[in-house]
Formats: sequence, C-alpha cells, structure tokens
Amino acid sequence: MDQSILVVNCGSSSVKLALYRTTDTAAPIITALAERLGGEGARLRVEGEKSFSCEEAMDHSQALATFIEECQDYLQDLAAIGHRLVHGGEAFHESTLITDDSLAELEKVSVLAPLHNPMNLMGIRLCRELLPDLPNVAVFDTSFHQTMPAQAYLYGVPYDWYETHQVRRYGFHGTSYRYVSAETARRLNRPADDLNLIIAHLGNGCSACAIRQGQSVDSSMGLTPLEGLIMGTRSGDIDPGLLEHMMRESGSSMAELMTALNRNSGLLGLSGISNDMRTLLQHEAAGEPAAKRALDTFCFRVARQLAALSSNLSSTDAVVFTGGIGENSADIRRRILANWRNIQFRLNTALNQANGDESGRISETGTPLVLVIPTDEEQMIAQDTLKITGL
Ligand code: ADP
Repeated sequence: MDQSILVVNCGSSSVKLALYRTTDTAAPIITALAERLGGEGARLRVEGEKSFSCEEAMDHSQALATFIEECQDYLQDLAAIGHRLVHGGEAFHESTLITDDSLAELEKVSVLAPLHNPMNLMGIRLCRELLPDLPNVAVFDTSFHQTMPAQAYLYGVPYDWYETHQVRRYGFHGTSYRYVSAETARRLNRPADDLNLIIAHLGNGCSACAIRQGQSVDSSMGLTPLEGLIMGTRSGDIDPGLLEHMMRESGSSMAELMTALNRNSGLLGLSGISNDMRTLLQHEAAGEPAAKRALDTFCFRVARQLAALSSNLSSTDAVVFTGGIGENSADIRRRILANWRNIQFRLNTALNQANGDESGRISETGTPLVLVIPTDEEQMIAQDTLKITGL
C-alpha cells in the first residue's frame, strides 16, 4: 500500500482531518469532521474509503483517538502529518518541520493569535502523543504574506509597538491564496510569478489579497483575523474609538466587546438572523429587510476593499473569487462587482450561474477577467508536508 499523509486542522471546538496517498494529493481518500468537541452534541463523521459516524461526548483527544483506531488499516503506512497553523508571526516565512525548538518558538507566537494558535498547537501535541515517531509539519496562514512591504504591514501607531510588541499587519488565508494563485496560473497557462491578481476569499472568515507577480503585496487582514471585510460573525474594520464609546455607553468590558466583535458581529450581527450566507439569501428572497441590510453592507465593503487593493497593481490580470461564498454565490459575486463602479465588469450570466467555465471564467470575453477558483487548503498542506519531509 502507498504511504499516506494526514492533514490536521484543529480549531476551538472542531477537528478537520484529511488523509492523502503520497502519490496523489489532488483528493483525499478519507476526510473527517469532529464538531462541538467538549460540549453537547459532539460528533465525528468520517467519509471516503472508510466511513462511519459517532455521536457521543468527546474532546479533541478522544475524537482523534477514535479516528486513529477506526481507520488503523489506512494509517499503517502513515508517513507524516501536516498541521494548519493560523499565525506564524514574523518567525515563520514558510512551512516548517516541527521540532522541540520550533514548538517553543511557536508557543511564543501564540500571544498574537490567542483564539487560534493554542488549539492548533494542541493538535500538534496530540499527534505527537497518539502517533509518535512521525514527522509533523506546520503550514501557516500568515507565511504567504511575509512578502508584504513595510508600507503595507505597518499601522500608523508608535513604531516601537512594532519593535517591542510585534504589532503589525500579518494577513491570513495565505495557504488559500497560495493554492488559488498557483491554480489560476495553471488554468490561464501563465507562469505564476508573472500574474497580478486580486483574490477575494469569502467563507465564514473573509479576506482579500493583492498579488503582484505571484507575491502578496497587501491583504485586508491585520494583526489578527478580525481586520478587513465583514465576515460571518466578525466585524471587520471598525474605528477603535468605537470601543471606548461602547465601554462608556453600555458599560461593557473590553473582553465582552472583543467577544461581540469576534462572535456576534458581521453578517450575524447586522442581520440578527444568521452568520450563514445561504440562510441570509433565503431570508432576503422572502423579503426580510434585515437580511438585505446585511448583504448590501457586506457587498459594498468587499467592493471597497478590492478596489483599494487594486491600487497596488499597475494592471490586474484577473479578479478571483474563492471560499464557500465566493465559489458558490453568483448573486453575491454580481453584487460585489456592481458596487465596484470605476471598473466596467461584465459578467456572463450563464457562466456566473454555473460558477465558471472550465477555466473558472465568469466574465464576458474581452472585458476585465473575473474567475471562480475553488480553494483547497488541505491539498496545499499535504503538498508542503510531502516536500518538507522529503517523501
Ligand atoms: P470556512 O471559512 O469555515 O471554511 P466556507 O469556505 O465553507 O467556510 O464558507 C462558508 C460560507 O459559504 C457560509 O456562509 C455558506 O452559507 C456559504 N455558502 C456555501 N454554499 C453557498 C451557496 N450555494 N450560496 C451561497 N453561499 C454559500
């Protein structure tokens, strides 16, 4: 049997797993999603060459242990494990082999992403415990953006905040941008380092990125994944003066306001209905103004951000949509581009409805190129793991 690679994405209440054969990282042979871990209604669902589901109280460790036990026939030739890490700070410019030293370095970076990195690190520790002797590789959401110039990553705050406290813009979703820009180059039959792209990654988390000659030169996300676009539950850009105002007026603490900005804002907060785009589109179609308000604001803000990012590029080869919303919602794509008024985009209605032709194109020939390219962060993590472990 071929050797295999396990990709692990460990979040606060979920673990996503994907098992690949080393000979084919295009599609996993088994995927697993463990949700609501450590709480009520925990469940593990495994699909692919092996499929089963399990609904019982479990935490991250138990979910992983159950997966390993049930899939042991497929894990006998497991050769390496790749982990998604949200934040790599400035220390990690590229994916890296986990050693005791790099783990210690990663611990230090955790202060920059206290909501995400500790969970990602727990995934690494659990794998080292449950699957000892296998190499583990960390792949960072931030590393692709380490090419951003200082003028793009600095905030207009005292410079020693950067020097002393690493306060700067980092950008996230980098693994997705790396995959989508390479895939765009492949589909357009152009060298990746020749392409200027504006990519909108619109999922539960949303961000956008300007890519000049294959490299990230600016991104909408900042020190944390809270900056930038309106997201499912995150606010995106706000005036920091809002925090003081709300502390004074509502008596909320800083911790309560940060929870509100991370978990109760964005599409959910604006609509009061849901953080889920599909649900909001249904409510809007049923005539609910609160859903329309949320979607109009979302689309306006995405257009504004994309237009701002495009000022980095002397010419733009393509605007690319990806992520659950970007890949699937013809309506949202159309509305975003309609809000970007200084460029005359012309979408082909049929191609937009079909989420693109074989190259991903949804624009009319001879008009600014707009593509839909499905992202695949797990595939990228599997490929990096292969490369770094020399398999
Ligand atoms: P994550 O960031 O968690 O990986 P996804 O990239 O899967 O999330 O994106 C989830 C979002 O995509 C949700 O808001 C969901 O409603 C939206 N979405 C998925 N399919 C569609 C669709 N057909 N039309 C509109 N939105 C969709």
